[in-house]
Amino acid sequence: MTRSARVVAQAKINLLLHVLARETSGYHAIETVFLRLELGDDVRVRIESGRSIDCRGASMPAEGLGVPESNLAYRSAVAYSEAIGWPSGFAIEIEKRIPVGGGLGGGSADAGAVLRLLDAMSPRPLGKNLLELAAPLGADVPFMATEHAMALGWGRGERLLALPPLPSRPVMLAIPPFAIATRDAYGWLAESREGCVPGATILDPAQLGSWGGIAQLATNDFHSVVAARQPMVAELADELRAAGAAIAMLSGSGSTVLGIFDEADPPPVASLVRSTGHAVIATRTSERVAAVALD
Ligand code: ATP
Repeated sequence: MTRSARVVAQAKINLLLHVLARETSGYHAIETVFLRLELGDDVRVRIESGRSIDCRGASMPAEGLGVPESNLAYRSAVAYSEAIGWPSGFAIEIEKRIPVGGGLGGGSADAGAVLRLLDAMSPRPLGKNLLELAAPLGADVPFMATEHAMALGWGRGERLLALPPLPSRPVMLAIPPFAIATRDAYGWLAESREGCVPGATILDPAQLGSWGGIAQLATNDFHSVVAARQPMVAELADELRAAGAAIAMLSGSGSTVLGIFDEADPPPVASLVRSTGHAVIATRTSERVAAVALD
């Protein structure tokens, strides 16, 4: 049996993000279009005695990521082990490249990657049933546990419709010097709405199939409420638009601001760093999800 496997846990962006009504459970329903980026963490899982997680790398916060038991990647391995009674021990190694708390789904990408890695080595693979384990871990985790680069997601992110991925485009991620806690962003949104939620609408599949259509749909309900507290978010979106971005908005619940550019027209990173005054990561949208490599 294979005892070790690795994969790149790719970040995601939301091309569309609507927050709908709050369920009686306290969770908000969402309606979103997920798309993977090439930017990702390197994740390796080894099957061995004991349980451990080691996170390092350029995007690790100075204060670390807390105790192992709170790490989403560790929790996903525990969930897998409890579901099928295997493995009793694992060692997870993560090289972080995805900014933490940036709305790029870093923790969820790691969790989804660990589920895929374990299932690839498993004596009793769960296949599509992996999504049942992913759903309780967070709204981004089911998508991150699939091999689809783009999907429409609704409910708590556990209802997914795979979409044909759009051709890869250059993406610039402007990283402000603060993180946004997802819980805060939901609180601000609820405050601003005073009980009202978005009304009836219909999504046209044709619009989801081209960058031109997506540019007309692209919106993020968190953008204006986060920008109201952190004006830098609106400033960064303006800078990205001025540099030629066809789409510029907050990523997920922030704090990263994303810009998607035409293939022929990506701005040089150095000029964006100068104009925004902040760290910028250049990446691309991805047309496919990285395959698991068995060691
Ligand atoms: P979300 O929208 O789910 O809050 P995010 O994309 O904004 O996520 P993450 O990088 O996933 O940001 O980090 C959010 C929180 O999750 C941080 O407080 C971090 O400490 C915690 N966390 C737990 N496990 C991980 C992990 N493997 N990688 C990064 N953060 C993690």
